[in-house]
Amino acid sequence: MRRIITINSNQVQKSLETKELLTRKLQSMGFEVKYDFHPDTELVISIGGDGSFLKTIHDFDFPEVPVVGINTGHLGFFPDISPDNIDTFIDAYLKEDYLIQDIPLIGASVCTDKHCFDVFAINEVVIKGDKSRTIHINLKVNDKHIQKFSGDGMIISTPTGSTAYNYAAGGSIVDPSLSLMQLTPLYPINTNAYRSFTSSIIFSRNSIINIAPEYRFENSILVVVDGVEHIYNQISDIKIFMSDIKIKLLRMSNYEFWSRVSEKFL
Ligand code: NAP
Ligand code: MN
Repeated sequence: MRRIITINSNQVQKSLETKELLTRKLQSMGFEVKYDFHPDTELVISIGGDGSFLKTIHDFDFPEVPVVGINTGHLGFFPDISPDNIDTFIDAYLKEDYLIQDIPLIGASVCTDKHCFDVFAINEVVIKGDKSRTIHINLKVNDKHIQKFSGDGMIISTPTGSTAYNYAAGGSIVDPSLSLMQLTPLYPINTNAYRSFTSSIIFSRNSIINIAPEYRFENSILVVVDGVEHIYNQISDIKIFMSDIKIKLLRMSNYEFWSRVSEKFL
């Protein structure tokens, strides 16, 4: 039976060397190795840091098969394996000695006056002002008005993304076994002219968050998905929800979230 593994790597020297070495080792074990997503692949390996991991998943259109990362990057919160541990990884993979962590995605339906576009995020969706403008938006949840918000913007993060931009903006770190969305404000304005909430809000997985820009400046809103800017003409409203799509992240069997948090940044 054909066993296919797809490897995606960034262009850093260390990643390219790791890709070559890994390819040779996997081939000697009888695997076919592809560098473009193959529909019959049983595993996707991303070589790089967190950014490469996110890019692999987006480029491969949210694969259904497990994804594992080899860290040659800076922080490497997603990738579990170091280039020095490739043999240990291959050994564990062959013995099926690993964990699969289901990572839920956040979806956003961005509507303009003409169309709606669906985007999906692993870490977060950020709503920001274009050209460094203040944003003024109406925030609704499950069709109930919450508040008008003015400030730099807001982050809506998954539990997985809680340790990324959300954490830098003062949001809470969330245990990945919880299924929720966290909305964290970015520089909320609180004056007699504008009132905006100042701490994170936690929403249940069934909530639908609705963000509608006030038209003080046309095209003043930017949607940033996992660090990548998306520009739309004349956004009328954005609905944010938890998607049913899940990414299967392969972890070594000794993986434990809180040890990872403490080792990476506490
Ligand atoms: P980047 O500028 O390299 O990302 C900033 C840092 O966030 C990097 O150290 C990255 O790790 C780390 N990171 C990414 N996802 C993470 C996660 N789930 N938990 C903990 N740390 C995480 O850009 P990038 O590599 O393309 O990553 C995109 C992400 O950057 C966005 O999704 C957003 O969360 C984050 N970001 C953060 C800030 C901020 O903290 N002020 C601002 C903009 C964007 P690596 O070093 O391994 O890449
Ligand atoms: Mn990065």
